[in-house]
Amino acid sequence: MLYTKGYAASSSRSPLAPFSFERRNLNPSDVLIEISYCGICHSDIHQVRDEWGGSTFPMVPGHEIVGKITQIGSAVKKFQVGDLAGVGCLVDSCRACHNCKEGFEQFCRQVVFTYNSFEKDSKTPTYGGYSSQIVVDQNYVLRIPENLTLERAAPLLCAGITTYSPLKHFKIGKGQQVAIAGLGGLGHVGVKIAVAMGAEVTILSTSPSKAKNAECLGAHHFAATSDPQTFSKLAGHFDFILNTIANDHDINAYLGLLKRDGVMTMVGVPAKPLAIDTFSLIMGRKVLTGSMIGGITETQEMLNYCAKHGIMADIEMIPIQGINEAYERMLKSDVRYRFVIDMKSLDSP
Ligand code: NAP
Ligand code: ZN
Ligand code: ZN
Repeated sequence: MLYTKGYAASSSRSPLAPFSFERRNLNPSDVLIEISYCGICHSDIHQVRDEWGGSTFPMVPGHEIVGKITQIGSAVKKFQVGDLAGVGCLVDSCRACHNCKEGFEQFCRQVVFTYNSFEKDSKTPTYGGYSSQIVVDQNYVLRIPENLTLERAAPLLCAGITTYSPLKHFKIGKGQQVAIAGLGGLGHVGVKIAVAMGAEVTILSTSPSKAKNAECLGAHHFAATSDPQTFSKLAGHFDFILNTIANDHDINAYLGLLKRDGVMTMVGVPAKPLAIDTFSLIMGRKVLTGSMIGGITETQEMLNYCAKHGIMADIEMIPIQGINEAYERMLKSDVRYRFVIDMKSLDSP
């Protein structure tokens, strides 16, 4: 077994703290990745605090993992020792169902998530990227294009694919009015991708202080949702809204911003159910839908797309010892725009 250092939460009420555990020895199709960086997703906070229910502890969060391959199993063909590699939100699936066969591993009924999940034996817990190393089957490992800066590529493994997938699915492009609601980790990557796809992009944000960053991110407009006038001024304006909001909000107000037949895709997952007024949908035949990360092939496609268009996350690097403070700041929407853990800090006292 492979001795591994990390940080874990021991219960939904405890802060994260140092934790050591063992990774499995490599199976023939496995690679061992020494983790260089791991992004902090708001889903880590939801799960550590058991806001979605069903969390298991101890929990080592982290699903925006990048690093270097240091060992390969005897049957590994896709990677060599020394290659850069990424791991996102899932590390295995049944490989036989129609979702797996069609590249939608994220919707497989036996999907194995990177942490807070169980291996296919249904009893071995999975531990995520707030750790020194990870063992993953080669088929669930991504290739990181060389021209991406490694630490700024880490957030693409979740925030990138979660925003790319619905924007692509709904054929976002030139001539469309697109809004990104919530300018956090997902939102800021979503802005960059929607702009690259050719849309006219508006940021809908509760934080007026983020307005000055809108232009640097490539957005065409910024609208403060703290100003009630925003909802009357922009009523019926958008073809598509990508909703990345992590907390409770008035979803009906946002639906009011869609044109007839406009689509709002939920990727944010607030802890409590949102109250939908049916009138918000029937008036204008509006479409409310959701999307969850993406499959392995699409995640690789997204990484290649981001490499081609120079899209990377704007990050604030932290040592792992700063993790609990980073969570508190994210809860106050105080991050520009993704915290990334420098895993070298695991060796510091
Ligand atoms: P984040 O970095 O914390 O950003 C969320 C942003 O939402 C905040 O920065 C803030 O932006 C806005 N916001 C927060 N509270 C709000 C409120 N009460 N009303 C309106 N806006 C509010 O989080 P993230 O990592 O981007 O994740 C966002 C959500 O997506 C989380 O719920 C996460 O679990 C979920 N997620 C889903 C998937 C998926 O596959 N569907 C994947 C990853 C994450 P402003 O300051 O601009 O208002
Ligand atoms: Zn995530
Ligand atoms: Zn399957």
